[in-house]
Amino acid sequence: MWQTIGQPKAVSLFKHSLGTGNLAHAYLLVGPPHVGKTTLALDLAQALNCQGDEPPCGKCQSCRRIVEGKHADVIIIDVNSARDPKDTKPRTEISIKAIWNLQRSASLPPYEAKYKVFIVDGAERLSDEAANCLLKTLEEPPPKVIALLLTAEQLRLPPTVVSRCQMVELKPMPSAEIETILVEHHGVDSDRAKLLARLSRGCLGWALRAAVDESHLAQRTQRLSEMFSLVNASWEERFVYAAQQGNDRTSTEEIINLWLVCWRDVMLTKCGSEEAITNVDYGATLEDWAETLTLPETVDFINSLQESLSQISQNANTRLVLETLMLDMPRKEDKTAHAISPTPVAL
Ligand SMILES: [Zn+2]
Repeated sequence: MWQTIGQPKAVSLFKHSLGTGNLAHAYLLVGPPHVGKTTLALDLAQALNCQGDEPPCGKCQSCRRIVEGKHADVIIIDVNSARDPKDTKPRTEISIKAIWNLQRSASLPPYEAKYKVFIVDGAERLSDEAANCLLKTLEEPPPKVIALLLTAEQLRLPPTVVSRCQMVELKPMPSAEIETILVEHHGVDSDRAKLLARLSRGCLGWALRAAVDESHLAQRTQRLSEMFSLVNASWEERFVYAAQQGNDRTSTEEIINLWLVCWRDVMLTKCGSEEAITNVDYGATLEDWAETLTLPETVDFINSLQESLSQISQNANTRLVLETLMLDMPRKEDKTAHAISPTPVAL
């Protein structure tokens, strides 16, 4: 049984291609984080190599080994592949070494399966060298080899790589469907399910993780309360915050994405579209902000947040990016102070 939920178009495309034996050599699975790209890639790898009657059965030895990450012919490559065990620094790119290993393995016939499946997770993180090297395999695909490139940011991939893949888009699910799945299949109480479904922004994988791991919501609460303080903070306090975040690209991206959603909520509240906001549990705070801040400054800061994400994706220094955001973030204190100060009397 296919484990991918909420992606009927993508699943039926693969079922049809499997049925007609008309598979491409390479697919690009595009969709936001936690929307189901990895689940779909593993489903396809199982369907190709299943030993049961109804592939993917999920029960045969091949299906089980694939999902456990132990199958010799289904290989997942990400930023941590082919790294020196002594190298403990966080990696930001998929190295050329990882692609050399892929090519060496692709040149050999499948060891225990019908097809070799290479899943490149976070394909936008391929280094230029690695992408060029992978392109050779995509241009002259060995028989019985299928490459699945997974990305949330298709525009960061070289067009030459994209043009060699068949694109399959995974769309966020309606929040009501996620809420139903959480309540009916995972026993989550309805208020919590409603909140998680809204916060997941259509990505079931995020909602499922947050339902079982309290730390997801706790981290969000902490990051949002830091942001709420920053809006009222002095310049000095803001720069101390930027310095404290260090140079962790992934966590900075997560923080900025969270802020972006929150500031969009402020904009929606200002425009009277409260029913569309994501952070429903912070409605009162968002209304307070929406009353104090102007639409142009809210929109300007949303643009700054988007620009900062694009700079981080181009390997900008994360502390500098955060410091610029600290300068760009509107200061609510200024507005409040101004609003309550007495109107000057003309002499
Ligand atoms: Zn099976």
